[in-house]
Amino acid sequence: MKATTILTILIVAAMILGALVGEFVLYDPTGATDLSGWKRFGDLILIRPLKMLVIPLVLFSVVAGITRIGDPRKLGTVGGATLLYYFVTMLIAVTIGALLVTAIQPGDLPQEVRDSVRQTGESAFMANETLQKRVSGNMSESGAWTNLLYQMIPSNVIEEMSASRPLGIILFSIGLGLALAAGGNRTRAARDFFNAGFEGLMIFVQWIIWLTPPGVFFLVAWTVGRIGLHNLTGPLGAYMGTVVLGLLIHGLIILPLILLLTTRINPWRFMTKMKPALLTAFGTDSSSATLPVTLETSIDQGGCSEKSSNFVLPLGSTINMDGTALYEAVAVVFLFQLYGIDLGGAELVLVILTATLAAVGAAGIPSAGLVTMVIVIGAVNGSLESTGGPLLPVAAIGVILGVDRILDMCRTTVNVWGDAVGARIMTRLAPDDPADQ
Ligand code: ASP
Repeated sequence: MKATTILTILIVAAMILGALVGEFVLYDPTGATDLSGWKRFGDLILIRPLKMLVIPLVLFSVVAGITRIGDPRKLGTVGGATLLYYFVTMLIAVTIGALLVTAIQPGDLPQEVRDSVRQTGESAFMANETLQKRVSGNMSESGAWTNLLYQMIPSNVIEEMSASRPLGIILFSIGLGLALAAGGNRTRAARDFFNAGFEGLMIFVQWIIWLTPPGVFFLVAWTVGRIGLHNLTGPLGAYMGTVVLGLLIHGLIILPLILLLTTRINPWRFMTKMKPALLTAFGTDSSSATLPVTLETSIDQGGCSEKSSNFVLPLGSTINMDGTALYEAVAVVFLFQLYGIDLGGAELVLVILTATLAAVGAAGIPSAGLVTMVIVIGAVNGSLESTGGPLLPVAAIGVILGVDRILDMCRTTVNVWGDAVGARIMTRLAPDDPADQ
């Protein structure tokens, strides 16, 4: 049996076991049982080792990728096509979310259920100081743009590295890669250094990857033990179902169709090969922590070129978030429905546009989408304010806080799947071997 097959079986088994242990042993409806030890253990044996590799990987991978492509004109074509792919797929995802939530109306609940859900949610928000702090930094749309631009153009790249902010490192790495490619013989040693360093890091990843099954077991058990699977049938069930349905449509129909139409390769076979990365995304809730596995799997198993993966995947793990965009649209419209505030066509268009921005601005870490959602709420409130209508309080996001982790697992999987599909498509523009085209 191939090593990847064994790994996949182990991860799936760990997930099922984790869910069973979480539901039957750990779940405590009073919420009084302290499960933080399980999460800490999952963090220690999986998330921290993966994160340890992310920043060096972003630097080495992007520099190596850019120097391999070399020709600035070719780079312009690949870069432009990649950005176009990110934008179009996110826009499709967010539109699917907005259409589904409008058709299904998951927030249309009996009045007494709405009142109790709202009250519990707002109190949960008020009791969560960390969330309040994270939210207040993302309040306005212009603030979010400025934040993004400042992260993209850092003044101190070492500071970005120590703060684990990949976006700033990417721009620096693109610049360095271009300079090393332009340097010809003078910079050959540095090019070889980055290429060989990247290969070494990939071997390191192949070792760390085996920590996924035990890590995923603890994280899934913690999630299910805290939330309880029965929530799927509670008042938030229809909302959760809408998000999951949208993610399934996007992940299983739209992205495979785009892959098939642009490359003619079999999307199911590609998805099967990408399983270790998709399962790691599901288990860790973080596109960024999954990046080492995504890179390794797409190059080793998925038939993606190093040239394309090295560039498309690190950038994608921080800005290309189809799942998050779709989720933000569903969540925001759901909350407005729950609070009995009608949204017109103009507000829905605003949701579509700002949810795309909010997803781009979300880091590839757990709950990032929940936090940047306030940008969308703020924009819609701004539009409602001009018509004198009622507004949605920011504390409303407390309503979906309790079930967010499970949805985060699902949307992160779609985020990583979108990145992988992008890398496979761009392999046609930047193959390692012309026969891969
Ligand atoms: N956890 C997601 C990711 O890492 C971001 C989000 O919260 O939607 O891709």
